[in-house]
Amino acid sequence: MNIYQIELTNYCNSKCAWCDHSKMKRTKGFMDWRIFERTVELLKSAPPPDNTVGLHHFGESLLHPDINLYLEYLESHNINWRLSTNGRLLQKIEIRDMLLKLRGLLVISMENGADIKNVNLLIQEKTQKKSQLRILLQTFGDTDMKSVKPGEYEIFNITKHSWGKNGVGEYQQCCFLNQNWACVLWDGTIASCCFDMEGEGKIGHVNKPGILTNKSWRLCPTCEVVLRC
Ligand code: SF4
Ligand code: SF4
Repeated sequence: MNIYQIELTNYCNSKCAWCDHSKMKRTKGFMDWRIFERTVELLKSAPPPDNTVGLHHFGESLLHPDINLYLEYLESHNINWRLSTNGRLLQKIEIRDMLLKLRGLLVISMENGADIKNVNLLIQEKTQKKSQLRILLQTFGDTDMKSVKPGEYEIFNITKHSWGKNGVGEYQQCCFLNQNWACVLWDGTIASCCFDMEGEGKIGHVNKPGILTNKSWRLCPTCEVVLRC
């Protein structure tokens, strides 16, 4: 089993209309250091695709009070990271400063609450500080990207989806199932995939990993995304 992404927290500071986060029944919390270290230990023996782990699930990872220590720890263990954020916390200079000292991939979801003024500040400061942080601006196409300053970043357009509820579910082709990828929730639960908000497709726990095999779960037959590798 390879860990595709880690949920540092399932708290969120946004209420995106297209996401069911506000209906989540799962207990909210922040991943503690012990669970994080254990997860990284597992990562080292079964690295994620391209040795790059996602640091998000159903929550805003930048809310984690020790986020800087977690990101630095991954970099010191030569594990690449990508972190998807709604961008609301980019208004804080200490968050921008912390990110700009790192060299992972920050994915800013432009329609989930990011203020272009703060995105522009980050882009400008990246150039000024010669930061190695990589920035990807992800958009549905609803945001006027001409307002974003020129600089070192990429833009990626995605199609809105229904978090696995409205598709044809060709799930036999999904990498979570056929490459045995999985996600670790903040409490150490290992869950089937990045759509598994409640941890319904639980396949294990980082404290007792053993030999784990991912399997299809409730949303697979209607999943329109089906993560193909
Ligand atoms: S920021 Fe992410 S987790 Fe939070 S409500 Fe929006 S899509 Fe859902
Ligand atoms: S819900 Fe979709 S992404 Fe998740 S394991 Fe099933 S097919 Fe793959």
